[in-house]
Amino acid sequence: MPDLGQPLAAQKPRFICSFGGTFDPFHLGHLEAAKAVSRALDGAQVNLILSARPSHRGATGADIEQRLAMLEVACAEFPLLQVDARECRRDAPSYTVDTLLELQQEHPGVPLVWVIGSDAYHYLPTWYRWREVVELAHLLVLDRVGHTQPPQEQRAVLAELEAQHRVESVEAAVASGAAGSICRLPVVLPDISATQVRQRVQQGYPVAHLLPAGVSSYIRQEQLYSRQPAN
Ligand code: ATP
Repeated sequence: MPDLGQPLAAQKPRFICSFGGTFDPFHLGHLEAAKAVSRALDGAQVNLILSARPSHRGATGADIEQRLAMLEVACAEFPLLQVDARECRRDAPSYTVDTLLELQQEHPGVPLVWVIGSDAYHYLPTWYRWREVVELAHLLVLDRVGHTQPPQEQRAVLAELEAQHRVESVEAAVASGAAGSICRLPVVLPDISATQVRQRVQQGYPVAHLLPAGVSSYIRQEQLYSRQPAN
């Protein structure tokens, strides 16, 4: 009897790749980032994790259900982009460390890759239990236009972190172990921010060119961002 190996469903993935954000709203910068990561990782699935209750910012413009709905409509036509609503179900601040601990439990021994824009990465040392974040996942940093340098107060700690953890590629990161490396993906992404989208809606300027299909009609339909924050 030939060895047919493990059934496909039982095979471990090489890594689990996740991209988290407040997505208020999910815009073309986010979508292009997720697609670029998937392409660079040979068509890997990218899990888009809504930071339902972000701890590092004030009230969001759209509530959790609305942000989730926009994320879902934006990703619907891209089978490699999977929406992950786990932080919506957690009745607590959306800490990345908690999400990584959950993912680690669900996929024991499988490397975790956490995608992050350079602006967010520059504030990593201010995150809740941030050193554990680096111990639980490989960080894949995407350059964001206008955010090439960390702020002065974070420079020394990030330089030290990179000296210890920097590798050249995700391949090298995954080969090095289950977590603990930092690498960059050289990619140029659209210079769009959710703040810019919210401000333009409030000021009555068009936004469809900044958003994935379906998101601008959802914003119109729900009359989002034209008033004060939702919660
Ligand atoms: P806001 O303007 O409300 O702060 P944002 O546009 O930065 O929002 P977030 O949901 O906070 O969007 O970002 C989620 C993740 O996506 C972060 O890691 C962020 O760095 C990254 N990101 C967002 N926009 C871009 C972009 N245009 N290019 C590269 N990375 C981006």
